[in-house]
Amino acid sequence: MQPTVVQQLDLDAIPRGTRAHLALETVRDGLGADMLVPVVVARGARPGPVLGLTAVVHGNELNGIPVIHRLLQELDLSRLAGAVAAVPVVNVPGYHRNERRFNDGADLNRTFPGREGGTNAEVFSWRFLDRAVRHFDYLVDLHTASFGRTNSLYIRADLRDATTRGMAEAFHPQLLLHNRSEDGTLRDAALDLGVPAITVEIGNPQRIQEDLVRHSVGGLQRILALLGLVDHTPPAPPPTPPIRCGRSYWLYTDRGGVLEVFPPLLASLDAGAHIAQVRDIYGVVTRDFHAPEAGVVIGRSTNPVNQTGSRILHLGIEGDPETAPAAPDA
Ligand SMILES: [Zn+2]
Repeated sequence: MQPTVVQQLDLDAIPRGTRAHLALETVRDGLGADMLVPVVVARGARPGPVLGLTAVVHGNELNGIPVIHRLLQELDLSRLAGAVAAVPVVNVPGYHRNERRFNDGADLNRTFPGREGGTNAEVFSWRFLDRAVRHFDYLVDLHTASFGRTNSLYIRADLRDATTRGMAEAFHPQLLLHNRSEDGTLRDAALDLGVPAITVEIGNPQRIQEDLVRHSVGGLQRILALLGLVDHTPPAPPPTPPIRCGRSYWLYTDRGGVLEVFPPLLASLDAGAHIAQVRDIYGVVTRDFHAPEAGVVIGRSTNPVNQTGSRILHLGIEGDPETAPAAPDA
């Protein structure tokens, strides 16, 4: 069916107990044509909150698309309270070009809230926020690792806030990372609008990972139950409890060359563990890297081409926000 072109996400215009395929007007391209953002609204038979789902804010981070498709397919609208408003692709030009960034080179997830009268990416961000996100009561933003890296299935959320912590725990990812929210992210802009929001990082870019997709669909179904959109029992979470990290940081190389990173995702590292090695192009080992403190591998580089300052791995420090040990002196 042809989507209905709309200028605002007006949920009340959609009859209760039905599903609508919308195309949201944002900006116009160089041909003067609308850049239309796809939105699926599943409106329940009964009143209730609106859960917004967004994917592909970064154009090559694709696992969120089948997560949204499958969640919607399994929803019983006659038993749904409120609505699920899902945006399978936010960054339309990035998606077409298989690239992280928007078509002016900006990183959309550093551009929110944007502004009317701003750059290409700023206007787009502002209008997407104003025309879509403003109508949500809650938001789950679906991402993956960036090009040249892999991620576990982990959530970035403010674990000190009861609502966002509850959403993150109900999802039951492999790892929960306390993180208030960085300036310019969609999550940060939603929080500023009073919309509780979490970010889910689902594995790797530019591919669909079936096991992580299935895990994530179950996670969203548990969030629907938590927020009262469904009253039936959601699928049980996986038996392994999520690893909880109170803080995290990336380790970077200080020597260029061919990089090899040793530990797999979610590996538990002791302080001083040998984590990576650099060889020059003649094969001579020029640098070894060690874990500065004990932690767990949240994400890691898979790209051996390492200019000085490239990422090695994303180290999570286990513990609650309050109890995670302070960083050691550099
Ligand atoms: Zn991303």
